[in-house]
Amino acid sequence: MILVVLQGYYIYNSYRLEEKELIRQARAIADKTLDTMEKYETETNEEKLVGDFQRLKTGITIQKEKITQPERIYSSEKIYNEKLEKILKKNIGDSGFEIGMKSEIYSILDEVQKKELLPTNRSLVLYQTVKKMSKPLTINEGKWSSRQSRQNTDLKLDEKNYYLVKSKSTFQLLNVKILVLKKIIPLIIISLLIVILIVYLFRNSIKNLNRQEKKISQLHTTIDSIAHELNTPITTLKFSVAQTSDSETKAFLERQIKRLENIVSSIHNNDSDGILIDEKEMGNYFSEVKKSFDKIDFKIKIDFTVNKSLFQNDFRQIMDNLIDNSSKYGAKEIEVVIKMNKLIEIEVSDNGIGIPKEEKENIFDKYYRISRVENLHVNGLGVGLFLVKKIVDKYKGDIDVNPKKKGVSFKITIPNEA
Ligand code: ADP
Repeated sequence: MILVVLQGYYIYNSYRLEEKELIRQARAIADKTLDTMEKYETETNEEKLVGDFQRLKTGITIQKEKITQPERIYSSEKIYNEKLEKILKKNIGDSGFEIGMKSEIYSILDEVQKKELLPTNRSLVLYQTVKKMSKPLTINEGKWSSRQSRQNTDLKLDEKNYYLVKSKSTFQLLNVKILVLKKIIPLIIISLLIVILIVYLFRNSIKNLNRQEKKISQLHTTIDSIAHELNTPITTLKFSVAQTSDSETKAFLERQIKRLENIVSSIHNNDSDGILIDEKEMGNYFSEVKKSFDKIDFKIKIDFTVNKSLFQNDFRQIMDNLIDNSSKYGAKEIEVVIKMNKLIEIEVSDNGIGIPKEEKENIFDKYYRISRVENLHVNGLGVGLFLVKKIVDKYKGDIDVNPKKKGVSFKITIPNEA
């Protein structure tokens, strides 16, 4: 939509510019024509013209006749018209312009009688083209006085003819619309093509995007069902291992089965166990963690007043994933701050390789792993943070990631109400 409006605006502007330019050129032609026409404005002609004013004057005042067509009064008009057409044609040349022109007297003030000789909205045409104008533009305007006195002593006449005459010349480029259109048609076609191309590309990208999304969701379903299908062989294996008598093989197989189970359960979130985590259980949990990650320096701060909502296995799963990640991604130090008051706040900060700001939105997507060199040798399915987010969402809580100078900090907030 915006694109169409912008293109429209652009074409409109080009139209106006082109129109302005063509009118400027037409004005120059009209101007030149007018210059040539001025050569015919000789003194004899002017006298003739003033004589016509006289006829106009007497016509109106003495015979009391209403003059309806004063433009007809000026008898020389016809010859001038022909001259105008000829000069104009020569000046236009092969530019394709159709120009209308007119030179007229639009006011004749009889200064003796203080009276306008021309009826309102009527003018005395000096010359004009055959093609008439609908919206004339002024080329120039002029004002001049004619003063003649005649004395006739026999008749005791003292005649004075003083006139103040106002005239103007106008022109119009009659075929301006067609000329402009001819010039900007290629532009319109190109603009249309651009719009069509962009709409086509846009539709194609949307289609591709949908196709990709469908493929990704199919892939997710497949991985989920593989994990689900693995449950049965794991159970059978567990049962068979229990029967094995060789204790060394048994221990080895049990470790491998445990690994398999962990992978499968990381894809499928376990249901809540219905037991709320308390301060003692938290303490137990962290001493286990410290033993498992003996190379990491833990700083644990717990401010426990009450827990009305967070279940034990959800707490474990959140902590397991966050601590496991910190350890996988280079942390030497992990700080855990837990507050269980009006709100449940859990903050896990580390000093590992950190998370780039632009990845903040992606890391909670299922199977998403940041692709970077540091990750190449770190195992993972990209489901850890997805599960953490899912659990937090279940409690209508929030999870916030804050990249630090060195490392990253995750802050979870959960309402503490039953
Ligand atoms: P993975 O199995 O890849 O660890 P997760 O969902 O747990 O999957 O994490 C998603 C991505 O976020 C990881 O691939 C990793 O690049 C990044 N990440 C998560 N936790 C941390 C962390 N503590 N430090 C640095 N990067 C992390």
